[in-house]
Amino acid sequence: ASGYSLLRDPHYNKGLAFTEAERDAHYLRGLLPPSVSSQQLQEKKVMHNLRQYQVPLQRYMAMMDLQERNERLFYKLLIDNVEELLPVVYTPTVGEACQKYGSIFRRPQGLFISLKEKGKILEVLKNWPEKSIHVIVVTDGERILGLGDLGCQGMGIPVGKLSLYTALGGVRPSVCLPITIDVGTNNQKLLDDEFYIGLKQKRATGELSESAFREAEVTFHVLLLKEYAELLEEFMSAVKQNYGEKVLIQFEDFANHNAFELLAKYRTTHLVFNDDIQGTASVVLAGLIASLKLLGGTLADHTFLFLGAGEAGTGIAELIALEITRKTSVPLEEARKKIWLVDSKGLIVSSRVESLQHFKKPWAHDHEPVKELIDAVKAIKPTVLIGTSGVGKTFTKEVVEAMASLNPKPLIMALSNPTSQAECTAEEAYTWSKGHAIFASGSPFDPVEFEGRTFVSGQANNAYVFPGFGLGIIMSGTIRVHDDMLLAASEALASEVTEDDYLKGRIYPPFTNIRKISAHIAAEVAGKAYELGLAARLPRPSDLVKYAESCMYTPLYRSYR
Ligand code: NAP
Ligand code: MN
Repeated sequence: ASGYSLLRDPHYNKGLAFTEAERDAHYLRGLLPPSVSSQQLQEKKVMHNLRQYQVPLQRYMAMMDLQERNERLFYKLLIDNVEELLPVVYTPTVGEACQKYGSIFRRPQGLFISLKEKGKILEVLKNWPEKSIHVIVVTDGERILGLGDLGCQGMGIPVGKLSLYTALGGVRPSVCLPITIDVGTNNQKLLDDEFYIGLKQKRATGELSESAFREAEVTFHVLLLKEYAELLEEFMSAVKQNYGEKVLIQFEDFANHNAFELLAKYRTTHLVFNDDIQGTASVVLAGLIASLKLLGGTLADHTFLFLGAGEAGTGIAELIALEITRKTSVPLEEARKKIWLVDSKGLIVSSRVESLQHFKKPWAHDHEPVKELIDAVKAIKPTVLIGTSGVGKTFTKEVVEAMASLNPKPLIMALSNPTSQAECTAEEAYTWSKGHAIFASGSPFDPVEFEGRTFVSGQANNAYVFPGFGLGIIMSGTIRVHDDMLLAASEALASEVTEDDYLKGRIYPPFTNIRKISAHIAAEVAGKAYELGLAARLPRPSDLVKYAESCMYTPLYRSYR
């Protein structure tokens, strides 16, 4: 290749870091200024430049430009500065980027499959330059973070998640493929926006809306429903046909009616993973397992109450119940009885069972109806309170005080994102419980001083699990995701919490060691896959942690001789 095209290919470009010898060998003389710089110096310069930007979106755009210009430098930055840059390339900034994706859009970074491509999805996949793909993250843009329907502009999410697969999990960038499925949007602001990049039509949705029950509209909605299911079916089989059995398909930010259904439909025939349901569950379970060191007892000794019974809430609840059955002789039905959920209509109880969505039905236990959370706390007497409703300020002073009066060490997890939606802040949890609460949240909080003690709360960030989980799947050649692999990931993450973390009240490890944590999670997940006979890479490597580490991508420049 000519030197000129080398400089323009983000996989090969290293800017001023091309050595004198490389400049001679690859026709780069004169195309670069005379100075030769190291990757460290480049990293220092770019970090310095990034920090000049006050507006988070500008930092995001600068990072995306870097990714398109010099991929290895992009990942070097992300790996070395993970705590600083995670909020830039992922939540919360990626959310704003998706909202404005139409106007900041420069170059496509993944595949767009819209209703226009129906019948041609296999051809679309063949247009992607890389032939060997191991992970696909796909969204239909209907529930982007806590921001709702962003249609085609949801593409920022698969792009961001896959950059974390590489940076945190060491999955090579060339085997990652971000995809957005565009079936329209119901977001009127986007439909009216002249810069909107997606299909300008109402969403072909997987669900019958309430208005659809009006006679005249039923046929129309059934048609839409069919259109959605057919497009997804074509997509799933095209992926398998083009990339084989061993490509991991991660569903991301689908609205919950489709998310549960797609997972149930494809989990027995494809290698699928839903991070909003399963990844969240694994991360939160890890925190619960770790907290037992502080609380004492086993999971089966606890009573759990959730505010919010959607993808996150019911996903976590199901995995807790499963873990209890694996650790004790308690059957699943019994284990579930220690777990209660409140949705927008109040406590989920058996008298409501007829009208419940199917994913809530297992949680409809015998109890009289309870409307308010505070009354549910008093009635159920939970030891653990978990917020997954997406509604902020719902763990009020009264609720936290009630938890503290019921328990010497109440465990409180305020998981709703972004920060404004957190059920309560770290400061509120510690002050209202007079320093007794063990607290973790979805969005990060600064350490809190209370009566001379410093409390450092943990962040139940999904990024702890999915990159290592994916690496474990890939390196073992696993063909199906099994729930026991999620449990293995939880145990692995929990075991990374140190005495020092516990002393500060943390039930999650710091993020700085995430590559090491990912390797450990990958090893445990792969180990479980071998144990279950689901791994196709044979023979099994003897030291799975070492093997995981050896599989991990490093962003150091290669020399071109
Ligand atoms: P979802 O599927 O839409 O579920 C939301 C649930 O909350 C539904 O059951 C809903 O009730 C309930 N709800 C809404 N308003 C309520 C209210 N005022 N009182 C009581 N319940 C209410 O959403 P999701 O995907 O589970 O996500 C929920 C939240 O969890 C989001 O804020 C998300 O950011 C957060 N989350 C955090 C993590 C993490 O920390 N790692 C991971 C995933 C998600 P109905 O069913 O009655 O409508
Ligand atoms: Mn998500």
